[in-house]
Amino acid sequence: MLTENTTEKIPERLKNVDLNNLGFGAIHTDHMFIATFENGSWNKGEVVPFSALKLSPFALCFHYGQTVFEGMKAYRTSTGKISIFRPLKNFERINKSLHRMAMPELSEELFMNGLTQAVEADRNWVPSAPESSLYLRPFVIATEERLGVKISDKYIFMVVCCPVGAYYPKPIKVKVEQHFTRAANGGTGYAKCGGNYGASFLPFKIAKEEGFDQIIWTDAINHEFVEESGTMNLMFFIDGVLTTPPVSDTILNGVTRDSILTLAREEGMKVSEEKLTYKQVINAIESGKRVEAFGAGTAAVIAPIQSISADGKEYKTYVEPDAQMFHIKKRMDNIKKGLEPDIHNWNLIL
Ligand SMILES: *Cc1c(COP(=O)(O)O)cnc(C)c1O
Repeated sequence: MLTENTTEKIPERLKNVDLNNLGFGAIHTDHMFIATFENGSWNKGEVVPFSALKLSPFALCFHYGQTVFEGMKAYRTSTGKISIFRPLKNFERINKSLHRMAMPELSEELFMNGLTQAVEADRNWVPSAPESSLYLRPFVIATEERLGVKISDKYIFMVVCCPVGAYYPKPIKVKVEQHFTRAANGGTGYAKCGGNYGASFLPFKIAKEEGFDQIIWTDAINHEFVEESGTMNLMFFIDGVLTTPPVSDTILNGVTRDSILTLAREEGMKVSEEKLTYKQVINAIESGKRVEAFGAGTAAVIAPIQSISADGKEYKTYVEPDAQMFHIKKRMDNIKKGLEPDIHNWNLIL
């Protein structure tokens, strides 16, 4: 038994949580889903009360980084139902991440059961205030007890949830990273594996000390091509054209990014999925073109960028209320909340 065996009644914690005033990621719900992998297969898993795990200090996840995760959100729709946004995309992606880390893949049934059972158990925790949602965190970690450097034979798959509010309170300032690298060709950049984030913390800490909220990662070879920003894909409207680098093995294939591209194409906007350098972006700003820049990811949905700094200079981007990024964000929010037709079947309604 990996979890605490508790017969204690779940305290009524929800009553003391202000669902209109949430940060990001501090408050857990009352339940969690857990399944285990042993002798070559996954069991079917179950929902249990949220509790600490009991793991041996020899568990391989503590030593060699076999950990992957996902992130998505469940929303309260305008009619009071619960809607999870595009979970099958996250299912596809967690299996790509698992494959890259030599970890066992999940069946669609197990992944979806984990999500739906966890959310069903904590339905009351799905907030309804604007910009708020229930963040869902599926993850898999290696649990075999062994200090040798090896591929684990045992794993757990879990889903934990937390009610969340807005991620960034205001448009962010970013700097182009010209020293550190997030991902290189052949590496793990396209996987949502723990190590990618651990390695980003020192560059991020330095950027914070310099007064920035986020980093624009650039390519590992010359630090010229823009890649991503923190846990978000990077997108621009340059002179009205929605511009973003193509996904590759150094860029995570974001669900938010894909959704934005789909909506923009449908609306007949011009879209460019071509590699671009940070200098192209800066030159566009300097030549007086309207440049909007934003991060796209589940946590922040769209994080408007107010300035980009590179080579010691700060360049201001367009963040007025009529910016096209806000229009796209509104459309995404409407679809998630059931306020406009979900023609792509993106919402899983519970
Ligand atoms: C999770 C993540 C994203 C965004 O993906 P979404 O599916 O839109 O949430 C982008 N880049 C990185 C590095 C990420 O970890």
